[in-house]
Amino acid sequence: MIEKNKRCQIEITDVASDGNGVGAIDGFRVFVPMTAKGDICEILIVKVLSHYAVGRLMEIIIPSPDRSEPLCPVFKRCGGCHIQHINYSAQLEIKRGFVEAAMRRIAGFSGFNCDEIIGMDEPWRYRNKCVYPTGTDKNGNVISGFYARRSHDIIPVGDCLTGGAINEKITNAVLKYMKENDVSAYDEGTHSGLVRRTFIRSARTSGEIMVVISINGNALPRRERLIKRLREVTEDIVSVYININTERNNTILGRDNKLIYGKETITDTLCGISFKISPHSFYQINPNMTEKLYGRAIEYADIKPEDIVLDIYCGIGTISLAAARRAKKVYGIEIVEQAIKNARENAKHNGIENAKFFSDSAEAAVPRLIESGICPDTIILDPPRKGSDEVTLNAIVSAQPKRIVYVSCNPATLARDTKYLAERGFAPKKCTAVDMFPHTSHVETVLVMQRA
Ligand code: SAH
Repeated sequence: MIEKNKRCQIEITDVASDGNGVGAIDGFRVFVPMTAKGDICEILIVKVLSHYAVGRLMEIIIPSPDRSEPLCPVFKRCGGCHIQHINYSAQLEIKRGFVEAAMRRIAGFSGFNCDEIIGMDEPWRYRNKCVYPTGTDKNGNVISGFYARRSHDIIPVGDCLTGGAINEKITNAVLKYMKENDVSAYDEGTHSGLVRRTFIRSARTSGEIMVVISINGNALPRRERLIKRLREVTEDIVSVYININTERNNTILGRDNKLIYGKETITDTLCGISFKISPHSFYQINPNMTEKLYGRAIEYADIKPEDIVLDIYCGIGTISLAAARRAKKVYGIEIVEQAIKNARENAKHNGIENAKFFSDSAEAAVPRLIESGICPDTIILDPPRKGSDEVTLNAIVSAQPKRIVYVSCNPATLARDTKYLAERGFAPKKCTAVDMFPHTSHVETVLVMQRA
């Protein structure tokens, strides 16, 4: 019998999709964070629910061969990474397993195989965007770092090894400016204080850096001093914004941005196409792996010069523009208006004239486009985590494309939508997983379906 506060021994037999180890006690599933498949360990039961329990790792009796020493000193406390205690090649196999398990269990493709998982050669320093919440410690010092696991306590992480080494210098410069000018940090509990977050985005190919300071107010006092401090760190900081967020919420950025220094956008190159990026544009976080992911999506799309391509959930047009180089015409659909503005500008300054972008929801625009007589040969979709919806999927089916290329950041919704499409005549043919976010439990997948 499993009871709360009881200590027991368990063998971890699997890793769940959130990165927690899983084992069973008397046939009852127990999730244990920070464990690895093959661990035999002593745990304390901290929660018992109707279908599962949660244990806390107390002692590892026999460690799993998959274990490795986490490089980050705050890994155990920080909520950013989930599986840094597992060696990288085992991480990759776990993630391939996530995709296969979802496709087998949720979509019901019993023998489904993910053909390949593409990992990073050097799985560190991959993030081009980092967001550091700012707060005050017990002694009244302003700090910035990352949220602790399942909480909003800030752990003052200087150098996060998944991001650029320069980030620590930038956050230190912001803290220095705050101390020197008596600028307060935001306090979530009381909804008071000014500086909420430092958002840093860098462009891999140009080296340009954008810094956005999110504030609970309309202005930063003596902002020229902040800019001076930032530019002392590096002249690569070419764009500085304040972002206004006076609401009691936890969104990363509020709606309004004010440029306080330099250029409105930074420019990065992806798949040979240059992109201008604004603070709010969705832009993939790991550019090296994004190229591999999109490269595979384009390969699966098998675009011929006379082909019409529809790219749904196109963001700033990254996949659309790579496809446009090969196709007769590409239509991109995206709900965020600013992203569509960026997509159009990106098409223009890359001299791409055969891409047309619509700012609308997929569920409104896709049926309308198909009804208007557009006949796509290939449909690419790259929805957010919640996946696509039946209205959009029905419109995709009614278009009867030769191929559907589904890019997904969530195996569960990928499997749900693939099942829906499979029941309507499309069969999965090839599948690749790409490790865009080493040390976290996230995995990206690209899957191609064809009419059966
Ligand atoms: N393909 C792009 C973006 C993928 S992320 C890239 O790789 O860069 C998913 C995108 O879907 C986001 O840009 C989000 O704004 C958009 N989105 C979310 N819900 C949507 C909807 N209902 N209709 C259209 N686009 C939507």
